[in-house]
Order: sequence, then structure tokens, then C-alpha cells
Amino acid sequence: MQIDGNMLEELKKEAMQNFVPILRDNTMKLIEERLELLRPKKILEVGTAVGYSAITFSKYLDEGGKIDTIERNDKRYEKALENISKFNLQNAINVIFGDAKEEMKKLPDSSNYDVIFIDAAKGQYIAFLEEAKRLVKNGGLIIADNVLFRGLVLSDYNEHKNRTAVNRLREFLKIIKEEKCFDSEVIDIDDGVAFITVNK
Ligand code: SAH
Ligand code: MG
Repeated sequence: MQIDGNMLEELKKEAMQNFVPILRDNTMKLIEERLELLRPKKILEVGTAVGYSAITFSKYLDEGGKIDTIERNDKRYEKALENISKFNLQNAINVIFGDAKEEMKKLPDSSNYDVIFIDAAKGQYIAFLEEAKRLVKNGGLIIADNVLFRGLVLSDYNEHKNRTAVNRLREFLKIIKEEKCFDSEVIDIDDGVAFITVNK
């Protein structure tokens, strides 16, 4: 899919000005490198925000490829639809409105996503991972953003404010490292990103 680079830059700037936590540049670059090699036919994204990452990913879709992306915030959902229309990507990107924990459950076992990108509430990553494992194709890739949460996860951080999210991410990292079906790599750039190959 061809994307107007200037329009994408504009969208990124606008999102940042509005404090939308879009993918950071270094992480995006790493993900783009993977997608370029994979040329996925089907991508699932958890956490659309205003559509910046989904629109960027669409560049790497195989011919006729599709992205499903889930967002629970109504304002962001509306904004994502608007942005996707601006880029004329309505046929390539399907935005699902709702809580991903529920919406993922509605997707069939036969979904066979090549890539699943998790970029939403950190406290729910383990639940998202469980569903993603079911929905990804055998040998497919799960990517999770923000897994090191500003470095807090690998430190001895134990302040009350973010304790739950930090503990849950530690548990998440343990699962992707220890479960046999996952072959994972955690990269310490930006907010931390995990690449997890699933062998069912
Ligand atoms: N992937 C986007 C950024 C996503 S920011 C990009 O890089 O452009 C995270 C988004 O996830 C927020 O908009 C938030 O509303 C949404 N979110 C968080 N938890 C969610 C959940 N359980 N279900 C659906 N959306 C969720
Ligand atoms: Mg993120």
C-alpha cells in the first residue's frame, strides 16, 4: 500500500501535540524492519489510538492484506476512522470499537493473523497474550510495546503508583521467556518492545 509520507508526518505531529502515546520512532523502525521482511497478509492491533501505527503498518501489507485494530476510547476511535479515511485506507484497515479483552474473544480460532501488535493497557497484557496466542498463526509473530515501562520493570521499583502495572509486566516477561511455545526477544529501546514468535 502506498502512503503519503508528508501526511503521515503531519498525523504523527498532531498526535504528539495531543499527547496521544503513539509508537516512538526507534521502536517503529524496528517493527517496520520486521514487517518489511514478513509482508503480512493479516495483522491484528490492540490499541488503535488515532490510527497512526495501523496506517504506517499498512505500507507493509501483502497485496490484499488487512489490518484489524481495536480501540475502546470513543473519541480516539472516531479520530482513527477519520484519519483512515483521509488516507483512503478504509478497505485495508478495520477498526473495532470496544474493549480488546472482550473483542479478541469474539474473533475465531481460525483467524490466523501473521502478526499481532499489543499496544494497550499494560495491566491486561497477560490476558491479551493469551488471546493473541490463540489468534496468531503457527509460527506467527506477536509484538508488544511498552513492556519495560520506562525502565521500571527491570529496576527494583516498588512505588505504589505503578506497582500493579509493573508487577504484571514482570509476570508477562516471565511468561514469554519461560513458556515453551514462545520464542521471545525483549529490546531495551524507548519504552521496551518484545518480539515473540509463537510455535503452537
Ligand atoms: N498503537 C497506537 C498507540 C496506542 S496508545 C499508535 O502507535 O499509533 C494505546 C491505546 O490503547 C489508547 O488509545 C487506549 O484507549 C487503548 N486501550 C487501552 N486499553 C484498551 C483495551 N483494553 N481495549 C481497547 N483499547 C484499549
Ligand atoms: Mg505504546
